[in-house]
Amino acid sequence: MTRTSTARLMDGTGLARRITEQTAAAAADLRQRTGTAPCLATVLVGEDPASVTYVRMKRSRCEKAGIRSRHLALPASIGTAELVDTVTELSRDPEVHGILLQHPVGPHIDERAAFEAIAPEKDVDGVTMHSFAAMGFGLPGFVSCTPGGIMRLLDEYGVELAGKHAVVVGRSAILGKPAGLLLLGRDATVTYCHSRTADLASIVRQADVLVAAVGRPRFISGADLKPGAVVVDAGYSPGNIGDVDFVSAGARASLITPVPGGVGPMTIAVLLAQTVEAAARQLGVG
Ligand code: NAP
Repeated sequence: MTRTSTARLMDGTGLARRITEQTAAAAADLRQRTGTAPCLATVLVGEDPASVTYVRMKRSRCEKAGIRSRHLALPASIGTAELVDTVTELSRDPEVHGILLQHPVGPHIDERAAFEAIAPEKDVDGVTMHSFAAMGFGLPGFVSCTPGGIMRLLDEYGVELAGKHAVVVGRSAILGKPAGLLLLGRDATVTYCHSRTADLASIVRQADVLVAAVGRPRFISGADLKPGAVVVDAGYSPGNIGDVDFVSAGARASLITPVPGGVGPMTIAVLLAQTVEAAARQLGVG
């Protein structure tokens, strides 16, 4: 049977706004109780235009939510040792509650070493091995922000996950892989697809829940979907184009995230929420 109705939209912009309002209220409450505003340190290496924009957006949202931000703009020529020292200092600084090291830091730097210099209690972007392992074990900790945002969107729209087949296309450490682990933690049966997957279309067609995290414009079309599938499009390519062909997929899915306005705004909302949570714990009121 062909579905002719169009899918319901999962509105990430609206949900992110509501989460951020709650975060701002929590930040104000924390400031009142402790006399200290939560503080996120942002570290940018070099001047990659996309990274500059992302960091600016994150700082501006922080400010609106009553979170202080301390920005470190480091030259592209910085070496691994110096970057690790800088991040270690932030990890030790009691005035900093969360640390965001903007990816990518440049090919000559050992990015993993720099991430690992972030203290687990300040890893509000969920990039350290500690955070990843905690998520894998289902223990408390900060999750990678985009997958965390995806889970909040699915919950907001009452998507049942237990026993469902979730297919994640993409397996990056910050997005695809943690998204699959979080879905697994909620009792979905998870399949990962990647660039070496054989007959990807036949696997995508089995998905009750599809998470597209590839970075290729309109890589998945409506014809590839199981009718009634829930489609989360985390992909972003220039021109506001997602990994999923929105028009054809929208005619077949039951729920779908738009691009923009789906997963994107959720990422920053989770970052801010985790920063305030980190601050509350470090200030002894969390
Ligand atoms: P990435 O590190 O480049 O990973 C892309 C993944 O897609 C890899 O696992 C790769 O497989 C897989 N892939 C590439 N070509 C494929 C193909 N032909 N068939 C199947 N799989 C293929 O990218 P990322 O950082 O995860 O980001 C993915 C997308 O999400 C990008 O568009 C990015 O802009 C977007 N994103 C959005 C947000 C947000 O806040 N909304 C945050 C982060 C990223 P291999 O592992 O085999 O190479």
